[in-house]
Amino acid sequence: MIHPTTDGLVDFIPAARLEELLRRPAAQAPEVHEVLARSAAKQRLTLDEMAALLSVADPGLQDEMFATARELKKTVYGNRIVLFAPLYIGNKCTNACRYCGFRSDNHDIVRRTLTDDELRAEVLALIGKGHKRLVIDYGEHPDYGAETIAHAVEVIYATKSGSGEIRRVNVNCAPLDVAGYRLMKEVGIGTYQIFQETYHRPTYAAMHPRGNKADFLWRLYGQDRAMEGGCDDVGLGALFGLYDWRFEALSLLAHAIHLEETFGVGPHTFSFPRLKDASNRDLDPRYATSDADFKRLIAILRLAVPYTGMILTAREPARLRRELIEFGVSQIDGGTRIELGGYSEAAQNQDLEREQFRIGDERPLDEIVSELLDMGEIPSWCTACYRKGRTGEHFMEFAIPGFIKRFCTPNALLTLKEYLSDYASDEVVAKGERLIAAELAALPDSDATRLLVERLGAIGDGQRDLYF
Ligand code: SAM
Ligand code: SF4
Repeated sequence: MIHPTTDGLVDFIPAARLEELLRRPAAQAPEVHEVLARSAAKQRLTLDEMAALLSVADPGLQDEMFATARELKKTVYGNRIVLFAPLYIGNKCTNACRYCGFRSDNHDIVRRTLTDDELRAEVLALIGKGHKRLVIDYGEHPDYGAETIAHAVEVIYATKSGSGEIRRVNVNCAPLDVAGYRLMKEVGIGTYQIFQETYHRPTYAAMHPRGNKADFLWRLYGQDRAMEGGCDDVGLGALFGLYDWRFEALSLLAHAIHLEETFGVGPHTFSFPRLKDASNRDLDPRYATSDADFKRLIAILRLAVPYTGMILTAREPARLRRELIEFGVSQIDGGTRIELGGYSEAAQNQDLEREQFRIGDERPLDEIVSELLDMGEIPSWCTACYRKGRTGEHFMEFAIPGFIKRFCTPNALLTLKEYLSDYASDEVVAKGERLIAAELAALPDSDATRLLVERLGAIGDGQRDLYF
């Protein structure tokens, strides 16, 4: 897979300026309050403003930051958490990313690419648990070109079990060229996401010594090409633990600003994976991001870019996921297996020789749903916006008054009702019905509420896939 030249592309991450911003003195109360007021007014922050939040050392001011992030999440996104599952399809890889179990010089890993039949078996297993949204994952290899990935997306959408089906396939694969992204759009992918891993070029060079991924700019412009190819929901991310987390946070904001300025729309999601143990990995632990810093990172990203969805994966342990959700996370995965064939072949324990890294939350989907219900969150499998052509939905949730009440909450409740009807344990059915009743009781007496009640009843009577 030789990719075209990146000659003429400029690095839009202002690294020297970011390093300088990180050397600033700690912000004091008046400045912090001013920045928090801008966040609370749903303004996207500037690099200087984010640097002010990153510099805060006073525990009292940090608590104020957390409180504003919590409030922003509540007022902007309400109490919904979208659930998805990652699906690994192929782990052959020609790159040598130092942190990853799939890297080409790791000869201990079992290499595998799912056949169509194996892929269908995985999808049926996921549908059987109640999943509706997937993100598919690949290594970077000549076998995994755009046509192959597009074919897999078609196989997934065509795989049904009774009324169960996958309704949104997001893609996490090596950056493609514009024609490749056009193909992704044609087969109806949801979000296209890639993580820059680190925006710090010396670290990037050290971490990616060989293969296509060694080209920093080719990757940095991956989302631009996706946009040009028509995939207008793109995800950004960095792998936390390779370099200073504050530099990566500022860079994510710089990347978001670049997309806003170039395409008039910012990123659909941020991902912030933290480095985990992987087969034959031996990395410098100097930049390991502590739980306390990770919490700051999530709150500050929420405050800095209030229109973007935030994904917290099962890399993190259950206890921490519970705590971090309230600072602005909008999507989590559940029932996660990341070994190839892991959903349908049921190995009992994690095996680092078969997977990319070790995960921290192995709980089944139903247990995670149960916990969300206990927390008063509505588990949602909603795919309505994307299927109605309302792309950039996070932006609409944030920007259009009443959008959440009109679309997101009703759709979350409809998908929850489906889950309760088809997949949930008795205990979760009881908790879920209680939550639906409480949410309905809080809605105004209106035609829209009556229509929602009618549709919930229709799902109870066996209809499926109803949405607004
Ligand atoms: N191979 C493609 C690529 O590199 O862009 C697809 C993504 S890879 C399957 C998914 C992501 O997992 C990587 O982008 C990286 O951020 C993350 N990852 C790799 N090794 C990891 C580790 N040891 N711990 C946590 N996340 C890791
Ligand atoms: Fe390959 Fe992606 Fe792993 Fe790098 S992170 S070795 S490109 S699978």
